[in-house]
Formats: sequence, C-alpha cells, structure tokens
Amino acid sequence: MAQKRDYYEVLEVPKTATAEEIKKAYRKKAIQYHPDRNPGDKEAEEKFKEAAEAYSVLSDEQKRKRYDQFGHAGMNDMGGFSASDIDLSDIFSMFGDVFGGHFGSMFSGARGGGARPQMRGSDLRVKVKLTLNDILTGVEKKIKVKKLVPCQYCHGSGSADGSTETCAKCHGTGHVVTQKRSVFGVMQVQQVCPDCHGEGQTVKNKCPHCSGEGVVRDEEVITINIPAGVADGMQLTVPGKGNAAPRNGINGDLLVLIEEEQHPELIRDESNLIYNLLLSVPTATLGGQVEIPTLEGPVKVNIAEGTQPGKVLRLRGKGLPNIDRYGQSYGRGDLLINVGVYIPEHLSRDEKKVMAELAKSDNVKPGSSDKRNFLHNLFG
Ligand SMILES: [Zn+2]
Ligand SMILES: [Zn+2]
Repeated sequence: MAQKRDYYEVLEVPKTATAEEIKKAYRKKAIQYHPDRNPGDKEAEEKFKEAAEAYSVLSDEQKRKRYDQFGHAGMNDMGGFSASDIDLSDIFSMFGDVFGGHFGSMFSGARGGGARPQMRGSDLRVKVKLTLNDILTGVEKKIKVKKLVPCQYCHGSGSADGSTETCAKCHGTGHVVTQKRSVFGVMQVQQVCPDCHGEGQTVKNKCPHCSGEGVVRDEEVITINIPAGVADGMQLTVPGKGNAAPRNGINGDLLVLIEEEQHPELIRDESNLIYNLLLSVPTATLGGQVEIPTLEGPVKVNIAEGTQPGKVLRLRGKGLPNIDRYGQSYGRGDLLINVGVYIPEHLSRDEKKVMAELAKSDNVKPGSSDKRNFLHNLFG
C-alpha cells in the first residue's frame, strides 16, 4: 500500500489553519478534482477522495487533535474512513453542506438544502435522431455540444487569485430591497442581489480568461446512453451536463429530445410494428411462402391456402421493447402483418378467359359466412 500523505499536505494548509481555512481549502480541492469536471480520470477521483478523507478528520475537532498527536496511526479506532473504501456518493452526502448542497444534488437528484444560494447553469437542449434499430437495442450516442464550461485558469472561481470581497451593492446580505410603484402604492420588494447573485461576495481580482465569470464557451463531447424502447418526442435528462454556472454554481442539465427516423417498410405503433403485406391472387388462393422484413432481417412466413384480405398475422416478440417511466425496458411487442390482396388491373385476353372460366365455379363466390368474416377482420 502506498504511503498515506499528511492531511495538511493534502489540503495544502498549515498545521495552524483555522476551521474556516480548512473548509475553504477542501472546497477548492473538491471542486478542482470533482468527477463531473474530470470524467473518467481515476487520478482526479483518488485525489477527490483523498481530500474528502483529510477533511473528514481535520474538520472534526476531536479527530484533528488526535491526528495532530498520533498521526495516521491514531486514526484507526476513531471511525475515520479510508479513501480507498468510500463511495463517491457518500462523500457528497457527508459534506454536502460545504458546497451548499451542490455536489450531492448531481448524484441524488435532490437540489437545494444549502445555506447560500447558488447560481445554476442553464439547461441545454439537443435532438437525437434514432432509427428503429437503435430503439430496438438501445444505443450510445456521442454528441458534440457547445456549452459553458468552468474556466480552467481559475477553476471556475472567476478570481485570478482566489480572493473575494464583500459585495458592495448588498453589503454581503445577498439581497437588495427596491421600491416599486404599483396600484397599491409604493411597495418594498426584496430581490436577489444582481451583482453577486445572492452570494454576498464578489470576485476581487477578476480572472482575465473568463472576465471573472468563472465560465468560458467551449465544446464538449457528451456520451448519452439511450435505453431501448424510447419513442419520438420523449425527452431524456442527463443531469449536470448542461451549461456550467458562473463561479462554481450548479450545472444545468442536458435535455435530449428523441426523434424517430421512419423505417422504409415498418410502421411503429407503440411497441408493435406493422407491416402491410400485399399478396397476389394466386398466393392468397393457393397459399405459399412470403418474406417479411423485421428489424433483425427478413423472415419467411407461410401463407395458408385461402388467406383473406384484412387478415392480420402476428409475429410474436418481433416488435420493439416497452419502456417504463424510469427508462427500464421490458418485454417486446409483436410484428403485425396486415394482409391485402392485389387484384390485377391489366390481364391479357387469355388470362381473362381463365378468369371467366373460374367465375362459373361456386367456389369463387363468397358465401354469407365469408361476408360476415370479412366485415369482422379476423385476427390471427
Ligand atoms: Zn477564469
Ligand atoms: Zn451582492
């Protein structure tokens, strides 16, 4: 096992640091190494966990005392956790207060709860076009999105050197009171401070790369996992993948609108697929084999002797998956074959002769039960 780093070293604070300084230092580290900002980066994740471990000890007066006295050896029976065996989501729920509810929210979906209001990045909307085959299996789509991302020079803080000052407009309260004239007379209205957006603090030395906003325009390739069974018009939400908010606020979401491409031969009806099959008179009369397109390639289907137009044949389980409201797909619909019969429009004189000959037979004339069945469109 690798040598454990000193907790003060991890947070880059002196041994004499105050609780507030430790909290600040941890916030900075956590934002820098946040997994949302470093997707797939194992090293950043380890650093993120390491900082959380350090903070879990140094933010607790008793544990810190013990650590100062005995170092890492003193922590074993103190109920401190080890970075190697903690889940990321636990870190968010443990220290959510440090971030004003910011980090926990990305993973649990619960927002708010923070002591201080935070700016939220706007949501982004993208359209994704899918074929029925994409919808059958579910699909991973990588799309390039133009969006606001945290400025890498100031790590999203907007400050060139990390320093802030009390907002001059609201004197640190985060809100301003304005007077509004209305039919009821002059009213006092309290509003979120437009200068600091409710934070009470403004950036002292603005970062030159982002003009103090903490965000810059950039492109990001985002991988979207689309579950099987989605339909045209559905909207998926990818939490936290929208625009970044100024000065390390809460990221907006990415909203993905599903568009369905039409299949050349199959028509979708919820989880069922429909195929309109046109038989020739001889095939409908004598029976035979036809090829039916499915999403998994053509299949051969036997047509019984005397198949009527309007009959519906069913290929069970050859439709699309169903999807529940949690995005879980289950089961599969059917492929329904609507049978039609093509009546020839142009016959040669000889062919007409054969038809006329046939017409003399009672077998080609529909009886009363045939008429009834035709009206009721027998389902197969
Ligand atoms: Zn910047
Ligand atoms: Zn203000």
